[in-house]
Amino acid sequence: MTFYEKFKEYDWERIKSDIYSKTARDVEHALSKDKRDLEDFKALVSPAAMPYLEQMAQLSHRLTQKRFGKTIQMYVPMYLSNECQNICTYCGFSLDNKIPRITLRPEQIEREMKVIKKMGYEHLLLVTGEANQTVGVPYFEKVLDQVREEFSHISMEVQPMDQTDYEKLIDKGLNTVLVYQETYHQEDYKKHHPKGKKSNFQYRIDTPDRLGKAGIHKIGLGVLIGLEDWRTDCFHVAAHLDYLEKTYWKTKYSISFPRLRPFSGGMEPKVVMDDRELVQLICAYRIFNEEVEISLSTRERETFRDNVIKLGVTSLSAGSKTNPGGYSEEKDSLEQFEISDERSAQDIASMIQRQGYEPVWKDWDMALS
Ligand code: SF4
Repeated sequence: MTFYEKFKEYDWERIKSDIYSKTARDVEHALSKDKRDLEDFKALVSPAAMPYLEQMAQLSHRLTQKRFGKTIQMYVPMYLSNECQNICTYCGFSLDNKIPRITLRPEQIEREMKVIKKMGYEHLLLVTGEANQTVGVPYFEKVLDQVREEFSHISMEVQPMDQTDYEKLIDKGLNTVLVYQETYHQEDYKKHHPKGKKSNFQYRIDTPDRLGKAGIHKIGLGVLIGLEDWRTDCFHVAAHLDYLEKTYWKTKYSISFPRLRPFSGGMEPKVVMDDRELVQLICAYRIFNEEVEISLSTRERETFRDNVIKLGVTSLSAGSKTNPGGYSEEKDSLEQFEISDERSAQDIASMIQRQGYEPVWKDWDMALS
């Protein structure tokens, strides 16, 4: 059995209607419990929970401090390639977007690493588009050989792979894989992914199962906010997380909820989530799950990121470049999406400290694994 079997039992419209018909009483009930289930999560993300935002924020703050202390993890992406054989309607790297394509060679990766290390980072996120011929498993194995001595925690956000491929990469030092479903609305998923391997909804949704079976240290889940009704989509993320935690209990989990950002040739979001709603979502996830790590990228604006540090977020990126070679040489080439918070890593670290928190550059060592 995989999550897809469970997913087939969910009816999108019924879940949506459940969420939108939750009442103040359901929200109060969810807030009063010690441990919340998926029905409570529906109440916490429902419009009925909006008047309870302050109460949710206080509870989320308390739970986060209890589990994570006053710390914020720092990570940074390194884009290795913008080659991609998929068409995704929301992405600047889409195959139908006529841009120069670059895949970093070892000497270019070396230059990127030097700049990133100088910024203070120990947690590195490797990112590529999906182009199996150029950036397939052999390429990743070489990259991992090159970067693993320099960084203490290596994550990847690349195409979904088979279990045996993940096993090879874990042996090479891979710690975490992020695989966002983009949307759990199966019909609309097809519209946003008309061409390429990514159009296979089932293969993508079952990727965390293959990772769990391969024994990965951490899996990142999420949706792209703006493609579909965010409340219903985020319910599916919560259900997926719930299933994975029970099935692969040795693995850690993180979630992220990027809001659709402008990009070259971009589409307009179908739904727009405002800042109060994003705060509601962060708090809802934390109140639902005290263990999960919550990550917020530089897609979000400065003031918003400063304000949510204490509410439930546990990791931040800063000083990010979303184009291959962006740190050391390709300063002006096309980004995957526009950055909103352009402050440097040190500026963000100082902001975190001013709020009484500690920026954590390293919390993991291979010697401990
Ligand atoms: S989202 Fe990923 S798979 Fe889709 S076009 Fe962009 S890089 Fe390619």
